[in-house]
Amino acid sequence: MPADDLPHDLIVIGAGPAGCTLATLVKKYAPERRVLLLEKEPGPRHHIGESLLPGIVPILKEMGVFEKIDGAGFPKKIGANYVWGADRTVWENDFNEVNVTEMIRRFGKIPERIEYAWQVRRSRYDEILLKHAEENGVEVARGAKAIALIEEDGAVAGLETLEKDGPRRRRSAFVADCSGQAGFLSKFRGIRDYHASLRNVAGYAYYRGAKWKYTYSGHPDKTKIFVCSTGPGWFWYIPIDDGVISVGFVTTVENLKASGLELEALFARELAACAELAPLMADAERVADFDGTGESFFSHSDWSYLNREAAGPGWLAAGDAAIFVDPILSTGVTLAHVGAHRAAYTLVSHWAGAAAERELLWKDYGAFCRESAAQYFVMALFWYGHDKDAAHWWAEAGKVQRAWLPVVQSDKAAFVTVSAGLTQHYDRLFSASSLFDETPTRPEDYPFYVEVLKDAPGGAPVCRFGPDDAPRLLAAYALEITFLPAAANGRLRPVKRARFLKEDPQDAVRDALNPRRFVTRYHEYLLEALDGSRPMKDLGALLGGKGVPAWWWDGPGRKFIEELAVQGVLSAGVGERA
Ligand SMILES: Cc1cc2nc3c(=O)[nH]c(=O)nc-3n(C[C@H](O)[C@H](O)[C@H](O)COP(=O)(O)OP(=O)(O)OC[C@H]3O[C@@H](n4cnc5c(N)ncnc54)[C@H](O)[C@@H]3O)c2cc1C
Repeated sequence: MPADDLPHDLIVIGAGPAGCTLATLVKKYAPERRVLLLEKEPGPRHHIGESLLPGIVPILKEMGVFEKIDGAGFPKKIGANYVWGADRTVWENDFNEVNVTEMIRRFGKIPERIEYAWQVRRSRYDEILLKHAEENGVEVARGAKAIALIEEDGAVAGLETLEKDGPRRRRSAFVADCSGQAGFLSKFRGIRDYHASLRNVAGYAYYRGAKWKYTYSGHPDKTKIFVCSTGPGWFWYIPIDDGVISVGFVTTVENLKASGLELEALFARELAACAELAPLMADAERVADFDGTGESFFSHSDWSYLNREAAGPGWLAAGDAAIFVDPILSTGVTLAHVGAHRAAYTLVSHWAGAAAERELLWKDYGAFCRESAAQYFVMALFWYGHDKDAAHWWAEAGKVQRAWLPVVQSDKAAFVTVSAGLTQHYDRLFSASSLFDETPTRPEDYPFYVEVLKDAPGGAPVCRFGPDDAPRLLAAYALEITFLPAAANGRLRPVKRARFLKEDPQDAVRDALNPRRFVTRYHEYLLEALDGSRPMKDLGALLGGKGVPAWWWDGPGRKFIEELAVQGVLSAGVGERA
C-alpha cells in the first residue's frame, strides 16, 4: 500500500460545507500547514439541505467565497413562512424584520442593504466551496474514501483510504471528521447520542411547473421557503434554481408505521390532501432524474443527535459529523459552517498556543458545538410539542435570545434573530467589542450587526440605584473559561463567562436557556459583591480608589447591570431613563 511522502498537518474527511470551511480557514490562517481534503464522491453530488440562513454570510465573507456564492444565481431567500397546526393563518417571518424594526426604532431609517441567504442546489453550492478551497491552497483528493483510522499511542495519526488509484495510508497530525451523518469517526468511537424524541424520517422530490403563491413563497426575486403542517407531519416547499421546487415531507417513525404505507405513498397522500399545497401542485411534474442521480424520490433518516465528544487526541468532528438538529428551522448548513469556523480557530490556536492551553481549547470547542445546537433543539422540541398560535413560538425564541444576548427585542424579532442563525454573531460581536474594544472582523462585513448593537442614546431601559432599587441577583451563577474569536485572525482569546443557573446545566438542551454573559475582572468582583461573597470595597480598590467611583457606576457597571436585568437574572428597578 503506497504511503504519502510527507505527512499532512490536517486531513479533512468530507467536502461538504463543514469540511470546505475548515480546510479553507485553516489554510488562510496557517498557510504553512499542509491540508488535505478527502471527498469520496468523484464529482459534484446531490445532497439535501437547500434552504440557508443569513448566519452563514459573515463566514462566507471570511472564507473569501461570498461573491462566488452570491453571484451564482441562487434564488435569494429573505425568510420563511409557516402554516402550522389547527390555525391555518400564515405566519410571516422575514429576516429583515429585526433589522428594519431596530433601524427605524434607533435611527429613524431603514438599512440600505437587506439581510438574505439563498436556496441552493447543493451539488452546485458545495462544488463552489470545494473549488474555492482548492484555489486557496488546500490539496483535494476526490473519489477518495476514508475507510479506517490509523492510531498510535492512543491518538489518531492518519487514515487508510480507498482512492482512484487504489488503497493508501495517509498520515496526519490531525484528522477532522466532516463526513456528515455518516459520522466516520463517531462510528469508530461510538460517541453519538440520538435524541429520544426527535426521530423523524423525510421523503422528498423535485417538481417543475409547481405554482408560486406570494403569501407562501415571497416574490420570485426575493423568495421565502414555505413550511406547512399536515396531520402526521409537515412539508417544506423550497423554490430552488431553474423553476424547480423542492417538496419534502417529514414525519415521525411512529406515524409512518401507523399509516401502513411506504414513505413515498404517504408523501403523495398527504400532498394531495394539503389545502395549501395541493392547488400549487396541480400541474406540476416530478423531475425524473434529479441531479443525475437517476432518482425521482428520495428518502432520508432525520434523527437528531449530539456527539458526547467533539474532539480528542489527534481528531475533531464538525458539522453533521458532530451534531444534527431536525431541519424544521433549516439550521444544518449554518451549524456546519459555524462549527467548522470554530474548529479552524481552535486548531490554529492549538498550533500557535502553549501546551497548557490546549486542553481548555478543545474542551471549549466541545461546549461550543453543544451550545450552538442546543438553542435549535429547544426550538425544535417546542415546535413538535405544541399546536398553538405563533405568539407561543415567538415567546420561546425570546427566552433563547435573551439567554444569549442582553438585547431588548420583541419576541417576534427574537424569533427572527434565532431562526436567521444570528444569535452567535450578535453575541460574538457584542462581546468582543465590549470586552476587547475591537470587533471580530471588519465592521463593513457586519453592517447590520454593528448598527443594531451600537448604543442608541436614550433608547434602552436603564437601572436605578436608589435605596429601594438596589440590584439583587435572582439566580446562582458559575464562572467558567471560554474563548472568543476576537479578531478575524484565526486565533481565539480566553475570556471568563458567568453562566446563571436557572435550568438544569447537565441537560444540554435545557442548559441553552441558562443566561450567560462574558465578564471582566471588574464584573466578576461586582457579581461577588452582589452575592455577598466579597465586600464592595474590593471593587473600589480594584478600580484604584476607596469606593466604587461614580464614573464606573454610571458607565461600565451600569451597562453590565442593565444587561443582566434584560437577561432576567438581576432585579434592579429597570425603567426608562428619567
Ligand atoms: C430531511 C433533511 C432536510 C434538511 N434540510 C436542510 C435545510 O433546508 N437547510 C439546512 O441548512 N440544512 C438542512 N439539512 C441538514 C443538512 O443536510 C446538513 O446539516 C449539512 O449538509 C451538513 O453539512 P456537512 O458538511 O456537515 O456534511 P455533508 O454536507 O453531509 O457533507 C459530508 C461529505 O462527506 C463525504 N463523505 C462521507 N463519508 C466519507 C468518507 N468515509 N470519506 C470521504 N468522504 C466522505 C460525503 O460524500 C459528503 O460530501 C437537512 C437534513 C435533512 C436530513
